[in-house]
Amino acid sequence: MLFSELAEYYDKLESISSRLAMIDVLTEALKLVGKGEMQAAIYITQGTLAPAFEGIEFGMAEKLAEEAIAIATGYTKEQVDSSFKKTGDLGLTAQDMKGKSRLKSISSNRYTVLEVYNMMRKIATTSGAGSKDLKIKMLANMIAAANPVEAKYIVRYPLGQLRLGVGDSTIMEALSVMATGSREFKKELERAYNICSDLGFVGEELSTGGKKAVEKMHVAIFKPIRPALAERLPTAEEIIERLGGTASVEQKYDGFRLQIHKKGIKVRLYSRRLEDTTEMFPDIVKATLDEVKVEDIIFEGEALAFNEATGELFPFQETIQRKRKHGVEEKVEQLPLHLFAFDIMYLNGKDMLHEPYEKRRDEIEHILKGGELILPTTRIVTKSPKELELFFEKSVENGLEGIMAKDMKAPYIAGARKFSWIKMKRSYKGELSDSLDLVILGYFLGRGSRAEFKFGGLLCGTYNRKRDMFETITRLGTGFSEAQMSELREKLDKIKTKSKPARVDSVVEPDFWVIPKYIVQVNADEITKSPTHTCGRERQKDGTEIGYALRFPRLVGNETIRSDKGPEETTTTQEVIGMFKEQKKVSLKES
Ligand code: AMP
Repeated sequence: MLFSELAEYYDKLESISSRLAMIDVLTEALKLVGKGEMQAAIYITQGTLAPAFEGIEFGMAEKLAEEAIAIATGYTKEQVDSSFKKTGDLGLTAQDMKGKSRLKSISSNRYTVLEVYNMMRKIATTSGAGSKDLKIKMLANMIAAANPVEAKYIVRYPLGQLRLGVGDSTIMEALSVMATGSREFKKELERAYNICSDLGFVGEELSTGGKKAVEKMHVAIFKPIRPALAERLPTAEEIIERLGGTASVEQKYDGFRLQIHKKGIKVRLYSRRLEDTTEMFPDIVKATLDEVKVEDIIFEGEALAFNEATGELFPFQETIQRKRKHGVEEKVEQLPLHLFAFDIMYLNGKDMLHEPYEKRRDEIEHILKGGELILPTTRIVTKSPKELELFFEKSVENGLEGIMAKDMKAPYIAGARKFSWIKMKRSYKGELSDSLDLVILGYFLGRGSRAEFKFGGLLCGTYNRKRDMFETITRLGTGFSEAQMSELREKLDKIKTKSKPARVDSVVEPDFWVIPKYIVQVNADEITKSPTHTCGRERQKDGTEIGYALRFPRLVGNETIRSDKGPEETTTTQEVIGMFKEQKKVSLKES
């Protein structure tokens, strides 16, 4: 498929907002993608070069793209820059300047989708002396050979700002329609995606081997599995009832999640976002080789720093210092880690996802017997809400975050939030029982005493899984230290956009929109209904539209921006609706 054809479809996608219409357009486009280039087409549509665990990123600066546009169109850098100041989007600038290029088109060669992808990969992976000039030259060559619409996307892609308005969920629906004529097959595609975390790969399997190839996809070592997620319930009674009368109740540790893959003597570690973090934790690699006495395994747990003298676990603020790329060895000495293992997904050629939790738990306990650094999570099995409550209180007293109750019979449900895991966290009166992870969608400029920081709060939102859109839920203005405000301002300035990003639904207008990228942890007094925000918005009988909002929101948590979650891992609109209902039940009980 020619890239110019794909670019035409992208152009159409950008102009529509109905999700169904978007699926139709994307389906049409995907039908034209040839065998062997589906992987590339999907990565481009996702705006990435590879799945997170491969660690290949663009990191291209706007200045560099400006230079490439100037070279390819015969305008000066200053002219490109002044156009960019007007459009706020270098893609549009490239399109415009290509349309009135001062240079004759240097080649009649039209790039295919695969060629564009391969060249972009080359640009991203070129490094060392002189690489900056080389990158500019390669990008300029591509822009020079492109038509104006192609140029728009050729420039936006390496800047990480495709602005198509489609997320993974929409891509999967389009793939399903492409292959089967209906959206039904999305479920199977989702299953495949959840066990390999590589949508490009799933698409390629589908394109070359059809439905059967996708159905056959199974767990594989060194392809991280998308993590299982927990639901919430506020009381011990409800948890026991929901889990069918018996629960395995584990301590909930506040560190960072690691998924460990071991094949013989090769070990790789993946973060919650499925990035390869092996180099950061040589001690966990060593402990795996020393203590996990099986040939091949995938298992996961929470890593926490501890005090070697007393054995005490450190709080998250200490543990997080271990997440670093430099000075690793020094920190390994200062802050040794324990790994509290809570699940196993693969063992010596056997996919364990479908085994019931109790069997997986037995297996992990058996494997880790006698270990020193890698231990199974502490837990009880109980039928009694009272006992659960006591275990929860003891855990909190010991400085832990709370408990995680698990369904004894449930499989490991990759990539989804289900009631097979239910969390209960410590909380304080007048506070929601769990904080929310919200994506920053925009920011407001400061007035009064904060004006010198030019920071007046954030517009934050949830992710609506059904609509594959981000919806606003609150304007967040409290809980920030001055240092946090300047940190945020600096980070957000780099990703601000002139207009509302395509996947954002909002009636509030912040001073600046930003690309949905960063996550903040927020607590509030309660969730309320509100006409101001689009989270869970529904038309009422009287014609007004009401959504959900937060009362007295404040920034909480140990990091200003959560490093372990991406925009689609924010609290979903569907979870907010669930929390709103639970909160109502609790307040009825209290009154
Ligand atoms: P939350 O981030 O509050 O939604 O809680 C889910 C997270 O708790 C998981 O992603 C894990 O990182 C962490 N966690 C801590 N202890 C456990 C446990 N015993 N079982 C499962 N997850 C745990």
